[in-house]
Amino acid sequence: MSVAGPNSQSLQKRAQKVLPLGVNSNFRYWGEEITPYVQKAKGAYLWDVDGRRFIDYRMAFGPIILGHAYDEVDNRVIEEIKSGVLFAMTGELEVRVAEMITEMVPAVEMVRLACSGTEATMHAIRVARAYTGRDIILKFEGNYHGMHDHALWSTYAPTESYGNRRSPIPVPASSGIPKSMREFVITLPFNDFEGFERVMKSYGDQIAAVITEPCQGNCGAIDPQPGFLDLIRKRTEEHGIVFILDEVKTGFRIANGGAQEYYGIKPDLATYAKALGNGYPVAAFGGKREIMSIIGYGVAQGGTYTNNKPGVAAAYATLRLLKEKPILQTIQKRGQRLMDGLKDIFEENNVPVVMSGTGAMFSFAVGVEAVTCQRDWSKSDQDYYLKLVEAAMEQGVMPDHDAREPWFLCYEHTDAIIDETLNVYADVVKKVKR
Ligand code: PMP
Repeated sequence: MSVAGPNSQSLQKRAQKVLPLGVNSNFRYWGEEITPYVQKAKGAYLWDVDGRRFIDYRMAFGPIILGHAYDEVDNRVIEEIKSGVLFAMTGELEVRVAEMITEMVPAVEMVRLACSGTEATMHAIRVARAYTGRDIILKFEGNYHGMHDHALWSTYAPTESYGNRRSPIPVPASSGIPKSMREFVITLPFNDFEGFERVMKSYGDQIAAVITEPCQGNCGAIDPQPGFLDLIRKRTEEHGIVFILDEVKTGFRIANGGAQEYYGIKPDLATYAKALGNGYPVAAFGGKREIMSIIGYGVAQGGTYTNNKPGVAAAYATLRLLKEKPILQTIQKRGQRLMDGLKDIFEENNVPVVMSGTGAMFSFAVGVEAVTCQRDWSKSDQDYYLKLVEAAMEQGVMPDHDAREPWFLCYEHTDAIIDETLNVYADVVKKVKR
């Protein structure tokens, strides 16, 4: 059985007549005749257009933190949108959302809302450049910060194209990015202490911002090595560089205060989207008052939809729930059990794996000893990973087909659902040979 049933396949054919690849985001295309199309989702479950039900571990690439179609969020949105969705005017609810973010996140004193992670990182980079009067940004290979031209470098390219790790070549992730923009980006392998020190010594005083995901949420959830984020903090401070922590995947997911709380790190600016609104279009960036305060004084930021009511109401309802109940702790605990169980299954079957990430958002690289950066990760057995996914989907469990994309949990992945998942993986790991 294909991962895409007959209805998915015929919808794909129809979709491809009007949408490039038959999708509205390249990441949703799995390939010809293997791209599933969705009918609906509820809680931790998702149904495709062939009526097959899956335990969903994609969670829309991370936003769904409470559960799909979560009543307390949806009801608040429905109630709020009855009094209008967009006004070109500021309302109290968005002020409250900003207050809640500053209460929950240690290093965020002021925020501005946006609609997507792409927008949040784009604005944060602009503000960092404006604040420092410098143009260059440093990003790490395998990190993804959205679709704008500033950061779409060395994300998903074959790592052979990245050159020697002592002097990496920034590789654009798309045609259409102006060649001259390469002047403004320096790339490095994640967790490269030595390389980072070298770049700081040579270019530290020319760099506007170091932007990084705290753990590589777009490359198998690779963990930061102990001390790496601290080193970034220390050197950026010394060189007057703005440290931007991209928490689009980790924010309001791995802890109420995100990676800042989890790893005990205080960046200058941080970016949020995804779990902030349990799936509704809302994002934010924020940080030090001194830096954020330049917005509006010769520094542009805005957007027609940046306070759209569905997004704002969803953020309000989601943050309230996260503040009131130990939701993220519960997710972390259940996710940790899933991680441990999967590790045991691989060990029992003599399949070497490196587990990475935290319970709420984790992954594993197969067939490698250690993974600290995308260059290591790319040596893992991604074909085998995909075969496991295909076999698991036949039994109703759906991680992403792309091994770079972590497993995401929501509050409605119950212990029983975790057990069922472990049973399925115990079976598929035994059956599917490398
Ligand atoms: N930053 C990170 C870390 C992300 O994971 C993503 C999306 N996967 C983005 C930015 C871009 O967010 P969006 O898709 O909402 O534009």
